[in-house]
Amino acid sequence: MASRGSSADAIEVFMRDFGGFGGFGEVFGQRGRSSQAGPPRGESLRTTLSLTLSDVAHGGTHTIPLALLETCQTCDGVGTVIADPCPRCHGEGRVRANRELEVEVPPGVTSENYITLRGRGHVGPRGGARGDVVVLLDVQEDPRFIRDGSSLIHERPITFSEAALGAEVTVPTLDGSATVRVPPGVQSGALLRIRAQGLPPLNGERRGDLLVRVVVWTPEHLTADQEELFRKLRDVEDEAPERVARSDDKGFWSRVKEAFTGS
Ligand SMILES: [Zn+2]
Repeated sequence: MASRGSSADAIEVFMRDFGGFGGFGEVFGQRGRSSQAGPPRGESLRTTLSLTLSDVAHGGTHTIPLALLETCQTCDGVGTVIADPCPRCHGEGRVRANRELEVEVPPGVTSENYITLRGRGHVGPRGGARGDVVVLLDVQEDPRFIRDGSSLIHERPITFSEAALGAEVTVPTLDGSATVRVPPGVQSGALLRIRAQGLPPLNGERRGDLLVRVVVWTPEHLTADQEELFRKLRDVEDEAPERVARSDDKGFWSRVKEAFTGS
């Protein structure tokens, strides 16, 4: 269970698989149960908030439309008007009303997290306290990126000649785009790092990195001109080595670090 205290009214973010839903079930088990004397507490309800990766990167305030039970103004929540059921709420003492709740989502959340808004749910019958609103978070898939912890991975195909000669390529980021210099002689599968364009960890300050995975694309169809050039290349090129040098050695990374124009 992780919590984040960022303001006086602390945001509580819980992990679903850390026993959070134990307490969760308890919340829902309270329905209609009168704890001590007095009117019962209102029911808790849950809702789902859809988030983009950009929402996760920056955090922010979201508005959630909800139909909440509110105290009936006709009978003031009593449920009866001189022994007759109130015509508006039919004796329930509550009526449904459309409300908008604001929820502050901290940066770095995942679909495993939920946020509890205490005392923001349905009002209780006959003036009882409000239940809670449990906001389940649903981070949408983004086809451009794979999320790996605080890193984002983007796969970028390049051509043979771009791999051999080097190139500047544009890649998408959560906030727009960035330019990456692909070093000459890059191998297929190499990771190029763009700093601080990933996601922040929950409760963390610094954003992770965007890793651009370079994949050398082999053309499936060649024009006559292209085929002729490739045949000429074959006559002069070196043989492929028995194995490709691993791209995560220190020499490679120090070269790659210098290669960035982004971040
Ligand atoms: Zn009423």
